[in-house]
Amino acid sequence: MSQIRELRPLAGVISGVRTFEGEGFAVRRPFPTNRLDHLGPFLLLDEMGPSENGPGEAKGASDHPHRGFETVTYMLDGEITHKDSLGNQGLIAPGDVQWMTAGAGIVHSELPSSPILAHGGRMHGFQLWVNLPAAAKMHRPRYQDLTASRLPSVAFDGGSAVVIGGRAFDTDGPGEIFLPVTYFHLRVDPERTIDLEIEPSHLAFVYAFIGRARVGVDATAIEAGDMAVFPSGTGLLRVISGAGGLEALVGSAEPLADPVARYGPFVMNTRAEILQAFDDFQTGKMGSIQPERA
Ligand code: MN
Repeated sequence: MSQIRELRPLAGVISGVRTFEGEGFAVRRPFPTNRLDHLGPFLLLDEMGPSENGPGEAKGASDHPHRGFETVTYMLDGEITHKDSLGNQGLIAPGDVQWMTAGAGIVHSELPSSPILAHGGRMHGFQLWVNLPAAAKMHRPRYQDLTASRLPSVAFDGGSAVVIGGRAFDTDGPGEIFLPVTYFHLRVDPERTIDLEIEPSHLAFVYAFIGRARVGVDATAIEAGDMAVFPSGTGLLRVISGAGGLEALVGSAEPLADPVARYGPFVMNTRAEILQAFDDFQTGKMGSIQPERA
C-alpha cells in the first residue's frame, strides 16, 4: 500500500547576489544579503565561479582571520592551496571538502594552486559557513580533510547525491559536526520528480547551480543561482528537474536559538565578543602564517 505524504511548503526563493571576494574573485551569494542574514546555523553560502582563467588570472583570498564558526569548502573544478597560522598546508582538489573549525581563531589563506596560477584553468567551488553553538565558539581550531574518496555517493531512481555532512539517503557523511546539520550535492536527471526526506526538525535550503527546477508544494520555478528556502516541519521536499536536469546543494539543520553577532570574518553571540575578536586578531592572538623557509 503506498503511503501518501504531504509536501513541505516553500518559505521563499532568494536569488544569489553577484559580488567579489578575497583578491577579487567572483562569487554568487544567496546569503548573507539584504534579504537574508542567516538561515538557522548557516551563515553564508558562496558559489565561487565558475570562472575560466588564463595563466596568472585566477584569484583567491590572502591571509585573513575567522572566529566562531566553521567553513566548509567544496571544490568541483580547480584547486585551492590552503595555509594557516597553525602551520598546516594542504590542497583542496576537485571533489574534495575541507571542513575547517575556526573556533577560537585562525588566520589562513585560500589561493589557487601553483599549477592553476601558472597555466590557468577553470575554478568552481562553494563555501558554506556553519555556526558553532555558543559553548563551542572558542573550541580549538581543527580541520577535517574530507577528500573525494571519503565522501559517499548515493544513487537513487532519478539521480544521485554526494553526502558532504550529516545523514542523507540513509547514509552518513564522514565528518564530525557540532550541530545537527546535513549537507549534500544533489544531481537529478532531466524531468524527474524527487521527493527528499528531510528531518522534520530541520529547516532546509536547495541552492541550484546547474539547470532549472520546480520546487515545493506549488512547484515554484527556480534556476541556477536561486536558493529555495523551506521551514522546518513534516513533509517531503519536492524537486522537479527541468529538461537539462538539475545540480544543487541541499543543506538542512535544526534552527539555532543563539543570538548572532557578526562582522566580516567573525561570528559570535554578542557585540562585545566581536570587539574582542578584532582585538585578539590585531594583537596577534590568532597567529599569522609563517613565510616558508628558503
Ligand atoms: Mn577564509
